[in-house]
Amino acid sequence: MGSMNIPMVDLKNQYLKIKDEIDGGILETISSTQFIGGEKVRTFKENLEKYLDVRHVIPCANGTDALQIALMSLDLKPGDEVIVPAFTYVATAEVIALLQLQPVMVEVDPNTFNLTADIFEKAITPKTKAVVPVHLFGQTCDMEPIMAVAREHGIYVIEDNAQTIGATYTYDDGHQAKSGTIGHIGTTSFYPSKNLGCYGDGGALFTNDDQLAKRIQMIANHGQVTRYYHDVIGCNSRLDAIQAVVLNTKLKYLDDYCRARQKVAQYYDKALAGVAQLTIPVREPKSNHVFHQYVLRIDGNRDGMVQYLKDKGVGCMIYYPLPLHHQKAFAPFFKGGNLPISEQLCKEVFAIPIHTEMEEQHLEYVTQTIIQFFD
Ligand SMILES: *Cc1c(COP(=O)(O)O)cnc(C)c1O
Repeated sequence: MGSMNIPMVDLKNQYLKIKDEIDGGILETISSTQFIGGEKVRTFKENLEKYLDVRHVIPCANGTDALQIALMSLDLKPGDEVIVPAFTYVATAEVIALLQLQPVMVEVDPNTFNLTADIFEKAITPKTKAVVPVHLFGQTCDMEPIMAVAREHGIYVIEDNAQTIGATYTYDDGHQAKSGTIGHIGTTSFYPSKNLGCYGDGGALFTNDDQLAKRIQMIANHGQVTRYYHDVIGCNSRLDAIQAVVLNTKLKYLDDYCRARQKVAQYYDKALAGVAQLTIPVREPKSNHVFHQYVLRIDGNRDGMVQYLKDKGVGCMIYYPLPLHHQKAFAPFFKGGNLPISEQLCKEVFAIPIHTEMEEQHLEYVTQTIIQFFD
C-alpha cells in the first residue's frame, strides 16, 4: 500500500463543486455593498427556519456568542447554576463562567458521549436554572426525558447543536424534530469545518418561543429594537452577508453532506468493528448520526496510535484531551469530586478523517493503516 495524505477535512474540493454559485453570490454582495444585514442574511434566516421547521432563527457572529446570548436572554442571576457536561468543547462552559453563573460539570454516557436525563436530574439543586445538553460529534442527546426532567423542575434547556445540525430526533410516539429545536433555545456554529460551515465565523440561535426570540434578537443587537434606544445590556453579534451567501448555498446540500459523512462512517464501522481493541461509535437509538466526527475508543496505547497515524499521513485529532473540570481555567468553579467517565474518555478517544469529499481509496488506506497498528 503506497503512502497517502488524508486530512481531517477537505473544504477545497467541497468548494470547487459549488464554486460558480458561491463566487457569483459573493461578487454580487460586494457590488451591492450590503455587507451587514440585508436581504442575503434575511433569506438565509428564512431558509434555515424552513429547513429546521422552527419559528425563529436568529443569526449571530459565532457559536460561542450564540451560547452566551442564549444565557443572557434567560435573566439569570450571578451564582445561578447551569449544568454542563465535562466532556465537551470549552465554549459551552466558558460563557457560563463569563456571565458569573456557576457551571456545574457533570458526566456523560460512556457510549454515546452525551448527557442523559439521569445524570442531569442527579445534579439539580435549588439553584439550578439551566442545563446545556451538548449534542456531541453528530448525535442528539435523548431529549424527551431531559425535557421532562427540566419541565418538572422549571429549568431552561439550551441545546448546544454546533456539531449536530441536520440530525433528526424521534420521540417515543414517532414524531420527529430537528436537533436544536427541542429545548427552549438551540445554538449552532457555522465555523468552516462544522457540518454546515461558512468561510469565516458565523453562528445562530433557534427557538419556537416568540418572546425569547424578541429578547435574543434585541440582545444580539446592542439591546435595542429601535436604533439608539437601548432597553437591555446586549452585545454586537452579527452574521455578515458574505457568510450568508455561502450558507444559503451550502444549506441546499446539507442533507447530501450528512449522507456522505454517514457513508464514510458505515465503511469505517464495517472495517473496524472486528478489531478487538477498538470500540466503534455507539448509536443513540432516538437520533440519527450526522457524524461531525467519527470518534473511536481504544483499549491500549492511544497516544501511540495518534503518533503512528500522523507518521502515516492519516489525519487524527483528540476530542477532547482534558475534561473541563481538569482545565486550569475551570478549577475555581469545580467543587471537587471525580468524573471518572469523562476522565477515561479523554484518555481513550481519537477521531479519524470524516468529511464530504472522501473516496473509497482514502477509506481503505485509513482503515488498513489502523488495522496494521495492531499487527
Ligand atoms: C464549535 C463549537 C462551539 C463554538 O463555536 P464557534 O463558532 O467556534 O464559536 C461550541 N460548542 C461546540 C460543541 C462546538 O463544537
